[in-house]
Amino acid sequence: MNIQFTYLPGDGIGPEVGAAAMAVLQATTQRFGHTLEAEHHLVGGAAIDAGEKPLPETSFESCQRTGAVLLGAVGGPKWDHLKGADRPELGALLPLRKRLNLYANIRPCKPYEALLDRAPLKRDRLEGTDFVVMRELTGGIYFGKKGRDAEGAYDECRYSESEVERIAIKAFDLAMTRRKKVTSVDKSNVLETSRLWRETVERVASRYPQVELEHLLVDAMTMHMLTRPTAFDVVLTENMFGDILTDEASVLCGSMGVIPSASLSDAREDQRVVGMFEPIHGSAPDIAGQGKANPLAMILSAAWMLRLSFGLNPEAAAIETAVEQALASGDVTGDLGGTLSTDQVGSQIADRVRRAT
Ligand code: ATP
Ligand code: MG
Repeated sequence: MNIQFTYLPGDGIGPEVGAAAMAVLQATTQRFGHTLEAEHHLVGGAAIDAGEKPLPETSFESCQRTGAVLLGAVGGPKWDHLKGADRPELGALLPLRKRLNLYANIRPCKPYEALLDRAPLKRDRLEGTDFVVMRELTGGIYFGKKGRDAEGAYDECRYSESEVERIAIKAFDLAMTRRKKVTSVDKSNVLETSRLWRETVERVASRYPQVELEHLLVDAMTMHMLTRPTAFDVVLTENMFGDILTDEASVLCGSMGVIPSASLSDAREDQRVVGMFEPIHGSAPDIAGQGKANPLAMILSAAWMLRLSFGLNPEAAAIETAVEQALASGDVTGDLGGTLSTDQVGSQIADRVRRAT
């Protein structure tokens, strides 16, 4: 297969972890007899520095054409003085999600054995934790009307029934491939959007009789995630609650340098799901350019791209196994207590994939 995708290295450590992921993708595609065709494009601060808009049309067109995007990180203090849509985040990241209709954001929470003792919770409480957060990504308060008036400021939160329905379907479909439980998180004791959310989720749930559904209020969920993380399978929630809960979930995994994410749309005519894959961490300007960045989250994001955008399961699994082996043998960067550089971790995972039988 020809694996044609758009590569957006972006800012800060994005290009560094991106180079490591590209080395692993090269090794994987060679090993499995595919060809790799990466379309490199600018995005975010890197685009601004090149005299372009944060999301140049050529970059967007490539994303739209390939339907598979591997993204490093966007933004950093260098561009903090810019306002509104001139900013890397508001001018590149949110428009990319909206224009590609990437409404389903998926982040896993499954602590690696090798990192269990780095997490803030005790091992006996964490062991067996394996859930996925399904976050709505293109609606809600982040995309509502915002502004200032005589009384102060406002941010409008809106959800249509169809927006809730399509993300709920994604969550239930995913649960059917897992332990068949959906935990829907809202604030329906206060918010009207949450009442619509709950009603709609109930209706979708009636089409999935084998899946157990529970509802939790978001404030309670922040506690349950710490006190009984093993109780969850698929956690379904709206945009802002998901933003907050996924950062909390990442702490359970011992390091955010190891967590990938996928933002998905529906399948196109050729049956391929449109997706953007990126680590959950940001551009980490404090360590950029020093070869210290942990590339595992980016490498795992590349594996997810192979699986979810191209249906290449054994290829993705080979990368995931190599990452597990590297973690178990301590061949990692300084943030995880190792001594390897970003590049060294990348080439070492690439070697493991090449040697895998
Ligand atoms: P953003 O707004 O883009 O999310 P941020 O500053 O909020 O950026 P990160 O860029 O994720 O958050 O960085 C948070 C901290 O974690 C920083 O100290 C950074 O150095 C560290 N960090 C983030 N990613 C990595 C990584 N891949 N390897 C090592 N350390 C990392
Ligand atoms: Mg951040």
